[in-house]
Amino acid sequence: MRTPRPLIAGNWKMNLSVTEGAALATDILSRLPGLPSAEVLLLPPFTCLSAVGAALLADSRVALGAQNCHWAESGAVTGEISASMLSGLCQYVLVGHSERRHLFHETDAIVRTKLESVLKADLCPILAVGETDEERRAGLTAEVLTRQARAGLLGLTHEEVCRCTVAYEPVWAIGSGAAADFTDIGEAARILRLVIEQAARGEGYGVRILYGGSVTAESAPSLLGVEGIAGALVGGASLRAADFCGIVAASDR
Ligand code: PEP
Repeated sequence: MRTPRPLIAGNWKMNLSVTEGAALATDILSRLPGLPSAEVLLLPPFTCLSAVGAALLADSRVALGAQNCHWAESGAVTGEISASMLSGLCQYVLVGHSERRHLFHETDAIVRTKLESVLKADLCPILAVGETDEERRAGLTAEVLTRQARAGLLGLTHEEVCRCTVAYEPVWAIGSGAAADFTDIGEAARILRLVIEQAARGEGYGVRILYGGSVTAESAPSLLGVEGIAGALVGGASLRAADFCGIVAASDR
């Protein structure tokens, strides 16, 4: 099976001032391999998007994305940012991260409306899915992944599905220091691929499935080698330029 170009995305979460964000982007740029085989993506907080974009100097090796958006296009929603407001600032928007699902009670239906708003704004959604530890212990991983991926993807047009990336992030592995087992990641990728192919009517091979959850420069070579995985969504390690670029370099092997 053909494999898409990997994507290594760094989710900075709620960290860094504008100055610190621009400095980290500059540091990352200076350490990147000349022509990495992976596409590199930075997901800074909203407040850093402009400054990080400027620091990246339109370098074609690095794309920019937002960590979240509101589902409506505009209106009386104090404190929120819509996907259409992000257009022109970045190319990708992450939706459905487990911290949004759990801390802000975002349901599958809310995540779907956000994903649709990202597509409508001509941006590329990254749909994060993943089971909790409780669900894993109850043997519900396949069910949860299938439900979350179907809710996000079924019913989209072929072109819309092909603009999506799916990130498998077992909730219990995020920030825990212990990545998931290779066999389990491979099985999750297989399950997600079935939904992607169903949504894309059998032609979704270009849709990337990322793995996220305690990826480090040391674990990246093996994690990125798991069948069906085309890149990583990186949290903690993306805040350290050397570690993040080590993960990017791992995708070259
Ligand atoms: C994340 O929050 O998406 C993530 C994968 O975090 P970490 O790499 O720190 O586990």
